[in-house]
Amino acid sequence: MFGKKYYINTETLRYERVKPTRKQLYRYVGLFGFGLICLAILMRFGFERIYPTPRQIIYQQENVKLRSEYAELNSELLEVESYLVDLRNRDDRFYRAILSLDPVPSTIRGAGTGGALRDQHLRNLREPGMVLNVSQRIDNISNKVKIQSTSLTDVLEEALNTQEFLACKPSINPISPADPIWLTSTYGYRNDPFTGKRTAHHGIDLAGPEGLDIHCSGAGTVLYAKMNRHGYGKEVVVDHGFGYTSRYAHLRDIHVKKGQKVKRGEVLGTLGSTGRSTGPHLHYEIRKDNRAVNPFYFFYENLTSEEYSLLASKATIDKAPYEPLAMSQK
Ligand SMILES: [Zn+2]
Repeated sequence: MFGKKYYINTETLRYERVKPTRKQLYRYVGLFGFGLICLAILMRFGFERIYPTPRQIIYQQENVKLRSEYAELNSELLEVESYLVDLRNRDDRFYRAILSLDPVPSTIRGAGTGGALRDQHLRNLREPGMVLNVSQRIDNISNKVKIQSTSLTDVLEEALNTQEFLACKPSINPISPADPIWLTSTYGYRNDPFTGKRTAHHGIDLAGPEGLDIHCSGAGTVLYAKMNRHGYGKEVVVDHGFGYTSRYAHLRDIHVKKGQKVKRGEVLGTLGSTGRSTGPHLHYEIRKDNRAVNPFYFFYENLTSEEYSLLASKATIDKAPYEPLAMSQK
């Protein structure tokens, strides 16, 4: 193609060189240029393979480092996952169980996070497996942590509720074990001391010397503190919430007022014989959802007389002065 060509000039009778046409010239230049470009490309990539550029070296080093960090991340995730399993087991089998809460259903615990869009981006990577695996596990852990957190919030709420319920529920004898008392009438049917007829007795009667302190059996609010016209005499009724009320009847004196907040062990009044009574005694009654229940089932806290007086004095110390205004007046 590039060889020189000659012809015989009939006029001069000499060999003369054939000159290429302009079109041929363009074609030669084009082909030459194309060859040069191909050569440059081949040289560049072949050269880089043998002698990488400084930037390529940095990328390669970073790549190796990233791979080892991913491997480390994987083993750390394994540890976090095992902590989460432990936390889940303790939550379901202990925290929730102790508060009678059902375990979190496995369908909720195993619910997905829906990171499909990001996963799609990761799948487009040259080697998606490693990054995708870590990413999906982190999503999974994050989801489990959120569910665990919600469950613990429920547990805390239930525990506070239970704590409040335990403080309010009537659970001690209204008369200290140190005081001389005796049971004169149990809960249930008995012969009425006035009429002799068999009637239901909705509480228990505890007889003792007049003037003994009568203590509140659980925290609550005073519902009534007045003379009862139906035979109970001077009485205090305390609303403990959660459907519970307690009645302390036939009192000599009343030390609390309607609407007053009272604590377990606090003195409500003194033992007396007001109303329909044959002698000094306390009629103690507990109602749940307005139905009388046997108070004996509510003496959970079998306190010694020392423990009882400690509870009673604490309830009195924490109590606001009965009539602070009158005390400050001269
Ligand atoms: Zn009674």
